[in-house]
Amino acid sequence: MGPIRVAVVGMGKIACDQHLPAIAGNAAFRLTAVVSPGAPGIEGVACCESLEALFRDGPAVDAVVICTPPQVRYELAREALVQGVHVFLEKPPGATLAEVAALEEQASANGLTLFAGWHSRYAAGVEPARAWLADRRIDNVSISWRENVRVWHPGQAWIWEPGGLGVFDPGINALSIVTRILPRAFFLRSAVLSTPVNRAAPIAAKMRFNDTAGVEISMDLDWRQTGPQSWDIVVETDAGRLKLTKGGAVLELPSSIEHGEDGEYPGLYARFATLIHSGCSDVDTTPLRLVADAFLRGHRETVEAFDD
Ligand code: NAP
Repeated sequence: MGPIRVAVVGMGKIACDQHLPAIAGNAAFRLTAVVSPGAPGIEGVACCESLEALFRDGPAVDAVVICTPPQVRYELAREALVQGVHVFLEKPPGATLAEVAALEEQASANGLTLFAGWHSRYAAGVEPARAWLADRRIDNVSISWRENVRVWHPGQAWIWEPGGLGVFDPGINALSIVTRILPRAFFLRSAVLSTPVNRAAPIAAKMRFNDTAGVEISMDLDWRQTGPQSWDIVVETDAGRLKLTKGGAVLELPSSIEHGEDGEYPGLYARFATLIHSGCSDVDTTPLRLVADAFLRGHRETVEAFDD
C-alpha cells in the first residue's frame, strides 16, 4: 500500500506551523496538494484556489485535512466526502453539532474515515494523567486557561464572528483534555460569558460543571491576560494534587514532575493513518457539546470594546 495522498485545505497558521511538519515526518502520508484562496504555494506541491478546483483539475488525493476557520468547514468536508475522500477536521470539528453529525453520517454511508482531531489530547501528560486518575477519589477540578489574545490570535477576524467561538477557541482544548482524563461524564451547571460590546463572541467565560458523582469542576477562561499565561488543570484527589500545565505538556504529581516532548500533531497523524487503514472514524463531539451548552445556558454580560 502506497502513502496516503493528502491535501491540506486552509494554509493559515496551524497548517504551516504544525500540519505540514507532521505530514513531512510521517511516511504514511504524502503531501500532494494545498488549497487556499490567498496563500502562496509550496514548491513541488500542487496549489489550488479552492477544493472544487482540486477535484476538477488537481492531482488525485485520498484524504483532505481541513484547517480553515470552523465556519466554512462543513461545506468543504461534505464536498470531500462526496468525492470519496477521507477527512481530518481540525478542532473544533464544526460550527454546530448538527453539521458534524451530518458529516459523520455521510462518512459512514460512503465507507470513509472522518477524524475529528483534538490536538491537546495528544499532549505528553494527558494519557499518564488519565491513568493516574483512574483509581483515585477526585475531590475537585479547576481549569484556568488565561492568555493574551493579541499575542496568540492577532488579526483573526473569524474568531470573533458567530461560530468562531471567541475565548472558547482555546478553551475547548482544555475541555478536550478534561473530558479525556476524568473518569466520569460531566455537565454544565452555570456559565457567565463576557462579550465585548463590539464583538459577537466572548472574550472571557467562567463556568461550573458537576460530574455524575457530584464533583465540582470550575473553569476560568480569559483572553485579556497579560504577563504570565496559564493553560493549567488542577485535580485534587485523595492521593494529593495532579497538575497539568502548559496545555497538557507538563504533568506534576505529588512525587514527580514530567516534561514531555511535543508530540501533539505527530500523534494526530499516526491516529489518522490508523483510522484510514482500519476503515474507522473517530468523531467525539463531547468538548464542542459542553461549549454549546455554555452558549445555550450561560448568562451573558457585555464588557468593554476590544480592538486588535
Ligand atoms: P488562520 O491563520 O486564520 O488560517 C485559516 C486559513 O484558512 C487561512 O489561510 C484562510 O485563507 C483559509 N481559508 C478560509 N476559508 C477557506 C476556504 N473556504 N477554503 C480554503 N481555505 C480557506 O487560522 P488558524 O489559526 O490556522 O486556525 C484555523 C483552525 O485551526 C481553527 O479552527 C483553529 O481553532 C484551529 N487551530 C489553531 C491553532 C493555532 O494555534 N492557531 C492551534 C490548533 C488549532 P485566507 O487567509 O486566504 O482567507
